[in-house]
Amino acid sequence: MRGWSELAERVAGTTRTSEKTSLLARYLATLPSGDLRVAATFLAGRPFAESDQRAVGLGWATIAAVVSRLAGTPAGALGAAYDHSSDLGMAVAEVLALRPDPPDPSHSPSLEEVAEAFAEIEAATGKAAAAGAFAALLERCDPLTAKYVVKILTGELRIGLREGLLEAAVAEAFERPQAAVGMALMLTGDTGEAAVLALEDRLDEARLRLLHPLKFMLASPAEDAADVLARLGPTVWVEDKYDGIRAQLHRRGSEVRLYSRDLHDISGQFPEIVEAARPLDWDGILDGEILAFAAGHVLPFLTLQARLGRKDPSVRVQAEVPVAYVAFDLLAIGPRSEGTDDSRNGHHSAGGNGLYAASVSPAVEPLLGVPLVERRRRLEALSLPAVAAGGRFALSHLVTADSVEALDRRFEEARARRNEGLMVKDPQSGYAPGRRGLGWLKLKRALATLDCVVVGVEAGHGKRHGVLSDYTFAVRDESSERLVTIGKAYTGLTDVELAEMTRWFEAHTVRQLGRFRQVDPVVVVEVAFDVIQRSNRHQSGFALRFPRIVRLRIEKSPTEIDTLANVERLHRDLQFGAEYLVTADAKASPTGPAESA
Ligand code: AMP
Repeated sequence: MRGWSELAERVAGTTRTSEKTSLLARYLATLPSGDLRVAATFLAGRPFAESDQRAVGLGWATIAAVVSRLAGTPAGALGAAYDHSSDLGMAVAEVLALRPDPPDPSHSPSLEEVAEAFAEIEAATGKAAAAGAFAALLERCDPLTAKYVVKILTGELRIGLREGLLEAAVAEAFERPQAAVGMALMLTGDTGEAAVLALEDRLDEARLRLLHPLKFMLASPAEDAADVLARLGPTVWVEDKYDGIRAQLHRRGSEVRLYSRDLHDISGQFPEIVEAARPLDWDGILDGEILAFAAGHVLPFLTLQARLGRKDPSVRVQAEVPVAYVAFDLLAIGPRSEGTDDSRNGHHSAGGNGLYAASVSPAVEPLLGVPLVERRRRLEALSLPAVAAGGRFALSHLVTADSVEALDRRFEEARARRNEGLMVKDPQSGYAPGRRGLGWLKLKRALATLDCVVVGVEAGHGKRHGVLSDYTFAVRDESSERLVTIGKAYTGLTDVELAEMTRWFEAHTVRQLGRFRQVDPVVVVEVAFDVIQRSNRHQSGFALRFPRIVRLRIEKSPTEIDTLANVERLHRDLQFGAEYLVTADAKASPTGPAESA
């Protein structure tokens, strides 16, 4: 471990990527496979593999108590040292350097001993036992080694290994293609395993492990329907673009996990989806979107927001904001494995080195390289328990289009279902994890716009000081013929337009109320927004979420602006719009386009 720590120190000491890579490569190439597995895992900045769900939860208080006891310093010593560097590993090293009888670096524990100690700390029952195991490890470490032991334990390695660098180093060390190392790493979720496979020239034997997130495939933006057809035509696959939370659903035996786009485990936030997936009879990975969904309708993102970041939502919250999982892809599939009792977390011991490796599900077939048309066919064959039948699942609405008119119509239909726009996919494309591939294009427009008249202006702050850049705008209440305010926004106008408008508003100020100028209601602006909500902040009784002034509508007269009745209709449509079910009922078929109800 001392040798590993010296290497880490050298890697941290250079900012040059190529130098970091060759330092790592040269080091890794010297190691036998047992050490290589551990060294690479630690270089990934983790005590255990990414796909290993164990975590060492040693808190600050435990670490501080152990370090103070070993060094014979007062309890606050670690805190004071931490103030110097804001780095826990460095602080621990600083305090341990004060030990009266520091251990000889040549007696530092081996990599495997450290790995075993980490497993012991994790498995300890109770804080005292964990602290005891940690103290026994730290006691044998010289300050430099202790620094890195703590950095790994706390997941804060910080030696400047940006993504891909370790992969490149493994590839260089064993003269293998980096893409093959990357693929093995992605499938196994285990840097140590990928390194050993590279050493043994067995990268093509990497097997998919479930219950660790794969990177998500992303879409590239498309300009418009013509652009879509030019890039993916003549006939394209069109799905609704849902405005929810992207989530990968993993199933293995009776275990179910949901992972967010930033690769965090969000299972705890959506227990009803996890429960609904538990009884299914396959192991594998779905890709899809979690939506707020009730009575056959997609609810606005705003509604779903109430569920974000909330672990263990109460029964009341679950009832208030019901959710569904709309699946649009299948990334791996196999027969259901029975039970997960090979260890607490679905892991089994890998040999006698005290390390655990995540369980491989040999029968699960990765489908990443399989064309979408086949992935979709197999997704549909799963017959997920549909929302329409009291389940929690739906399939994305899928149709085809082969002309600009057809795409425009699809777009309007998707909007009528209160979805954001369209996702256009190449049916022959594979799933490209972590990439904004060209196999998927997204087509979206602002949700809706309102034509409003500017009734008040204010000067902005900072750069916009002295410029009337903040507009309050109104719609017409036809019942009283009054103008009623609905929102306020900074303009998205150019500096030239702004200067010109400032002069105009100064000349047309009706009343000055502090910073606010009431102005002649003449200037019409088009306002885009994400959501309309009821609110008594404005006279109209509505407020807009994220209002943006898209443009001046000089050609429009204030008599032509939107009315309060229009706003009410839009609110109703967006909130409880057209009768629609995501598609759980009308099962979309990729070959024969299914029309929405
Ligand atoms: P954006 O966030 O605008 O870059 O759009 C990409 C996101 O659209 C993805 O990350 C998904 O969360 C989401 N999305 C919604 N519907 C779909 C769909 N049918 N297929 C793929 N992605 C979708």
